[in-house]
Amino acid sequence: MPSIMKISVNHQIIEISGQRTLLEELRQAGLEIPSLCSDGENMHHASCMVCMVKDCQSGQMIPSCATRPREGMEIETDSEEIRRLRRISLELLLSDHRADCEAPCTLVCPQGIPVDRVVYLYDLGLKAQAKALVGGKDCSQCTKMPCQKACRRGSVDKSVRIRDIIGELIHDTSLPQGDHPAESCDKTLFNSRIGRFTEPEKERMKQQYSQPSRCLHCACQGRDKCRLRQLASQAGIKASRYGLSSQLPFKQEIHVNGRLWFEPAKCIRCGQCVHRTNNGFTFLGRGFGMQVIIPEQNKANIDEQIAACCPTGALYLKTEESC
Ligand code: SF4
Ligand code: SF4
Ligand code: SF4
Repeated sequence: MPSIMKISVNHQIIEISGQRTLLEELRQAGLEIPSLCSDGENMHHASCMVCMVKDCQSGQMIPSCATRPREGMEIETDSEEIRRLRRISLELLLSDHRADCEAPCTLVCPQGIPVDRVVYLYDLGLKAQAKALVGGKDCSQCTKMPCQKACRRGSVDKSVRIRDIIGELIHDTSLPQGDHPAESCDKTLFNSRIGRFTEPEKERMKQQYSQPSRCLHCACQGRDKCRLRQLASQAGIKASRYGLSSQLPFKQEIHVNGRLWFEPAKCIRCGQCVHRTNNGFTFLGRGFGMQVIIPEQNKANIDEQIAACCPTGALYLKTEESC
């Protein structure tokens, strides 16, 4: 016979099984508790601290993923204090996170053209698809060219010639008329920022991105499914108040296996990929400087499916058209 336990949640008595972590019991009872590092089933080591709730008996904030419920517990799951502490946890994660969610060129385009995706398809030689994304819009009147002023390549050497590329597509009559509505980004969502490039990074960018447009393809492949971004948006975060502490290189993309890639500067060290692989991803170091790495000899042990467990865009599957 399974045991039933009674606990108080937000001043209401509920019955739980007592067999799972407090996080899972609360979710089972229909409460929405955010988390980035829990695998949903097992007792956890509480690395993200986003699932905090208040133990009203002790007055302490506790990570619900690493807490076993006990009979008679009194829990609070939502208050100004809890939201403030969860927000601090998110901001600390973001301060150690070096990536752009959306490309700056796309964010500033007053016509809503998804500039980075147009340039990406242009570089792949997929000009008809690139023109379709421009959506029949015309940049010729946009004399201030905010996209080119915002372009990250400008801080390396010279901005991408965005307006020329779009003009070339629009005036190429051999391409079908691009009159589909352009899908731009949602400018209300949180946008992570990479900060300044270091001098060695600038040199690497020059070498690595030498295709026709010289675009760095700044946008994150994970931006549409990233849980870190979703939670930061829900918390109303515009930028982390803690400043950027990450020293990890921008867009250092490590090929793991098949279509699977790993970008360490986007990793929040939640440990999901480490705990779900045998002789695969592993932690290196301890404390604040700890990193997740994939030793060369372990790469063959990793399956592409592992990308689905990553709460950020650090692990992703690359296809030719992914951008
Ligand atoms: S480098 Fe490419 S993606 Fe980045 S801002 Fe410039 S045009 Fe946009
Ligand atoms: S991993 Fe998430 S938060 Fe980071 S750049 Fe990508 S979408 Fe933005
Ligand atoms: S790469 Fe691994 S440790 Fe890093 S955020 Fe993704 S799942 Fe978590």
